[in-house]
Amino acid sequence: MSKNVIIVGGGLAGLAASIYLAKAGKTVTIFEKKRQLGGRAITHLRHGFRFNLGPHAVYRAGAASAIYRELGIALRGGSPRKRGVALFDGQPHRLPAGPFSLFATSLLGLKGKLEASFLLPRLRTIDPKPYASMTAREWLDRNVSDPRLRQTFEAFLRLATYSSAPGQISAAAALGQLKLAMKGVLYVDDGWQKIVDALHSHAVTAGVNFVTSSRIVRVDHDGRVRGIEIGGLELEDRNDTMSIALPDISPEGERGTRLPADVVLLAVDPETVEELVDDDLGLHTTPVVAACLDVALRKLPNKKNTFALGIDQPLYFSVHSAAAQLTPRLGALIHVMKYRADGSGPASEKELEGVLDLLQPGWRTVIQHRRYLPSMVVSNSLPKPGLRRPTPETSIRGLYVAGDWVGEEGMLSDAALSSAKAAAMAILARET
Ligand SMILES: Cc1cc2nc3c(=O)[nH]c(=O)nc-3n(C[C@H](O)[C@H](O)[C@H](O)COP(=O)(O)OP(=O)(O)OC[C@H]3O[C@@H](n4cnc5c(N)ncnc54)[C@H](O)[C@@H]3O)c2cc1C
Repeated sequence: MSKNVIIVGGGLAGLAASIYLAKAGKTVTIFEKKRQLGGRAITHLRHGFRFNLGPHAVYRAGAASAIYRELGIALRGGSPRKRGVALFDGQPHRLPAGPFSLFATSLLGLKGKLEASFLLPRLRTIDPKPYASMTAREWLDRNVSDPRLRQTFEAFLRLATYSSAPGQISAAAALGQLKLAMKGVLYVDDGWQKIVDALHSHAVTAGVNFVTSSRIVRVDHDGRVRGIEIGGLELEDRNDTMSIALPDISPEGERGTRLPADVVLLAVDPETVEELVDDDLGLHTTPVVAACLDVALRKLPNKKNTFALGIDQPLYFSVHSAAAQLTPRLGALIHVMKYRADGSGPASEKELEGVLDLLQPGWRTVIQHRRYLPSMVVSNSLPKPGLRRPTPETSIRGLYVAGDWVGEEGMLSDAALSSAKAAAMAILARET
């Protein structure tokens, strides 16, 4: 059996898997198509402000946190304040996030408040498993009678899962994720790049090799992996969020550079996996998509408004710099987002600007930098009732997969990291 493992994709999943494999004695090489490692966890430095790709928070009790701890990666940062604004019909109300704000809010009537006072504590200890066959909407219809409270709970589920499809998402997954979110989240100092850099440094220490700006275009296999093909040059757009593949400049008919390999881990999205193996592996998933407006301000016009959630609109607003170190002195880094339901058209940037107009009036006069990302894939796989995500081991011998769409554990980066570890363990068990 070969000692060599090739990993395609230098995001969190690829990086984490490489550390487990290299520490166990494998010779690991990561191929990343972009110039920089990190994938969706990258942070861009603009005028001294650290921009994650949209709002990113680590779930403190999640699988990713446990893996960072296991790898010896300590995360620094802060948690957002509990106090927040609920936006309903264009008006701000107090967000009912705890007993006091529930009592004080003008968002709910007496009946809704009473019902919430029983339901909110129940959610902390709920066992989500029995609800695996129903959608979040079905669970809400059965368990919440006050219509405004139902909308409020829908907003909480959106916040935890990033999904604006309560009629599609599994109630078990959504409730599990909400329960996890209620245990606390961390906004990371210096942005998620700090996590990427720490993983990279651990990988380098473990002896992992890196080939960046190098796109893999094919995995050669005949039921067993035989090699990979390295393709053309990759150009990146100004925001470094999209890349354009240039055709290979090799003579016509000639294929890219071939490298023999018998163990390959694809830490990329499911569409790319099927393209690379040129086969239908049945990996059809529904992505969870959001539109993000990321804004750097020289100062924060309204220091009280640091967090808001749309109740009748799928909107999110959070001043991440209020909890984490992300800006020069006095500056503010704000993420505004619209959760996009499957099939809904792109959100308008103006709509997101409207949230800033309401909560941070005067923001336009203190703006330092802004970036609009109309269509970010937050997760490659919306967990639907009855959906079983693929295992890290595929039907092609020597081919493994990892990412937020693989394995049974967690969502978002928790799924990416836990499937990365599971893929590494499967490789060590099968290929040694
Ligand atoms: C707006 C937004 C908000 C988010 N918020 C949160 C949050 O609050 N909490 C949370 O836990 N998660 C969050 N996430 C999700 C989190 O960012 C991802 O789960 C995680 O970064 C995924 O890591 P990955 O390595 O699986 O995939 P990716 O980061 O997508 O990495 C895949 C890598 O593979 C490379 N690649 C692809 N094809 C090829 C090829 N052919 N050859 C070579 N390289 C290739 C890509 O360039 C990329 O670097 C958020 C994501 C977004 C977009």
